[in-house]
Amino acid sequence: MKKINYIGTRDKNIKATASQAILKGICEDGGLFVPEEFPVLDKSLEELSKLSYQDLAYEILKLYLTDFTEEELRYCINGAYDEKFDTPVIAPVVKKGDVSVLELFHGRTIAFKDMALSILPYLMKTSAKKNGMEKEIVILTATSGDTGKAALEGFAGVDGIQIIVFFPEDGVSPVQKLQMTTQEGANTCVVGIKGNFDDAQTAVKSIFTDAVLGAELSNKGFVFSSANSINIGRLVPQVVYYFQAYLQMVKMGEIALGDEINVTVPTGNFGNILAGYFAKQMGLPVKTFICASNENKVLYDFFTTGTYDKNRDFNVTTSPSMDILISSNLERLLCILSSQEKCKELMTSLNTDGKYSLDLTKGIIKGEYATEEETAQAIKAMYDKSGYIMDTHTAVAYAAYEKYKKATADETKTVIISTASPYKFTKDVLVAIDKKYETMDFFPLMDELEKLSGVEIPMPIKGIEKRPILHNTVIERDAIKDFVKEHLTK
Ligand SMILES: *Cc1c(COP(=O)(O)O)cnc(C)c1O
Repeated sequence: MKKINYIGTRDKNIKATASQAILKGICEDGGLFVPEEFPVLDKSLEELSKLSYQDLAYEILKLYLTDFTEEELRYCINGAYDEKFDTPVIAPVVKKGDVSVLELFHGRTIAFKDMALSILPYLMKTSAKKNGMEKEIVILTATSGDTGKAALEGFAGVDGIQIIVFFPEDGVSPVQKLQMTTQEGANTCVVGIKGNFDDAQTAVKSIFTDAVLGAELSNKGFVFSSANSINIGRLVPQVVYYFQAYLQMVKMGEIALGDEINVTVPTGNFGNILAGYFAKQMGLPVKTFICASNENKVLYDFFTTGTYDKNRDFNVTTSPSMDILISSNLERLLCILSSQEKCKELMTSLNTDGKYSLDLTKGIIKGEYATEEETAQAIKAMYDKSGYIMDTHTAVAYAAYEKYKKATADETKTVIISTASPYKFTKDVLVAIDKKYETMDFFPLMDELEKLSGVEIPMPIKGIEKRPILHNTVIERDAIKDFVKEHLTK
């Protein structure tokens, strides 16, 4: 099999094997790792359609993580995709109304981040072993809500690894917050910050590229890595479910093998949709990706005008995991579609002016967005039509898809990527269906949602409001670096 190396998005001379790239998380110059080229499938879609999720994952991952042995990969995959998921299919497709919905919320934290973060700790431990790494790995994670919990759940109790999570104190849902602040595990640390997700992400990125701090902590026996979607070890496992979704649509008779589909992805940091783009590059028949944004529609503007401009107000919406103005993974697409030189220029411009231009308006990724009102209407419309209750992020995607379809008359069979269980956003979801829920408290509403949807309250969050709070530190956004230093050296 062909060896795939990873190179920097801002400098093609930065080179790493897959396991090295997973350990590093980010390049020394602040760039991200991208595969030097896209691997090609060595099996037909028909052959892949006979495989379990785990075996399909192996067929995809082996093409990207080429310095892992079969035994290592199977160990990682089987450890990740097991009974932690509440269905053996792992990522089921359901037909609702006129669309297929790929449900990525059947893992332990009931959001799609579980798809990658249940395997990342295994990949990282294995990478450390392969590279003779003896230092203690410190995972630093900025979260808009879902990554933090999924990373904590994945890394809690893993020896040789510590994890510190920063979340916007006022920017996550009550369930999301409790999921994190009740996290057990001596190697876990959860910190609220007075700021938004971009503040947290920017601070964390600057720690990774701070050579002085890096050297200081290295002397003390620590090395930083990332569980954010900037880590290639998170991106690659997400390629798998795009194949799985397609093959399920074939089995359900929605499409014939070889037909093209459209994919609509509720997007924030651009990690999920980029994995879909990787799948397409490997041969998955996708015609169009609809990149769905909420009112923080910086990506919609980029894909429709060719200019990315983060100089705008930040909106706190009911889909907080998409409240992002700096979409980190977009850098990978820019690099793939232009060059390292160009990408570096664009990122410098983003740093200094907060904007850049590159015309991707004619590509296969189309931007759409949904306002708060359209999102709420989409939840209600889907519920009225089929009794199915979508979470707010999925609803952004559904609303965006409906707008896209209206504008283009494109009738291609479409899969909506569903990224969270409605229980994570119980109140917003129920209020969208009926205003009478407005005055009710969040947690009693979970019982209402159970009645209305006929879907049981997921085990991982049942009774969460009664669990003891184990983390209650809140810090200023500019205190993140000092906090990390102190936490590790005390
Ligand atoms: C993280 C997240 C998203 C956005 O995914 P990206 O990969 O950051 O684009 C969407 N919905 C939910 C529920 C999420 O947790």
